[in-house]
Amino acid sequence: MSPTILIVEDEPPLIEVLRYNLESAGFATLVATDGEDALLLAAEETPNLIVLDWMLPKLSGIDVCRRLREAKATKTVPIIMLTARGEEGDKISGLDAGADDYVVKPFSPSELIARVRAVLRRSDPKFGEEKLDYADITVDLVAHKVTRAGQPVHLGPTEYRLLQTLMERPTRVFSREQLLDLVWGRDIYVEERTVDVHVRRLRKALNETGGADLIRTIRRGGYSIDIG
Ligand code: CA
Repeated sequence: MSPTILIVEDEPPLIEVLRYNLESAGFATLVATDGEDALLLAAEETPNLIVLDWMLPKLSGIDVCRRLREAKATKTVPIIMLTARGEEGDKISGLDAGADDYVVKPFSPSELIARVRAVLRRSDPKFGEEKLDYADITVDLVAHKVTRAGQPVHLGPTEYRLLQTLMERPTRVFSREQLLDLVWGRDIYVEERTVDVHVRRLRKALNETGGADLIRTIRRGGYSIDIG
């Protein structure tokens, strides 16, 4: 069963970014667009984690955080707060109010997903997805190490994130644009050709161990990891 994340955010574009990235990483999502809604949904659905924006209509994120901590049903649900850049005070008050962690806006999707995973892992070891396995490839998400048929595969940080993204959903085809969003982040302008360059490096590193090529190139479509 995939963990359910409650997104509490009032700006539609940011809701979409959060939802898209969390769902692509295999999480189920719920959305509340104001603080009161968030408290109701959290009590009704007891999500596995809450991503809570600081700036919200009606109740502020910090008030929502406090109230979630006071209520019996939501007392132990992990909370990650989204704070604005440079608001050092916000981070501290957020943690004081009971948040487990915070992410500073603007954030890269991979950073957010990594935080969500880390907080989930701490809250309940059953969500501690520490490894991704597919075919003879293993990605150790804690040690950031990759092996193929038991042999170490050495990857740069971008190739690692690329492999992790593909391994989270084996056989699913990711377009270049999706990979740019998931691996590089939406705020960064990178040409789609860059994806091809890094896929080529990843493929080379994976195949150095002598195994079959598991990265499928779909003409005009994108890439997937697939035994075929
Ligand atoms: Ca907001």
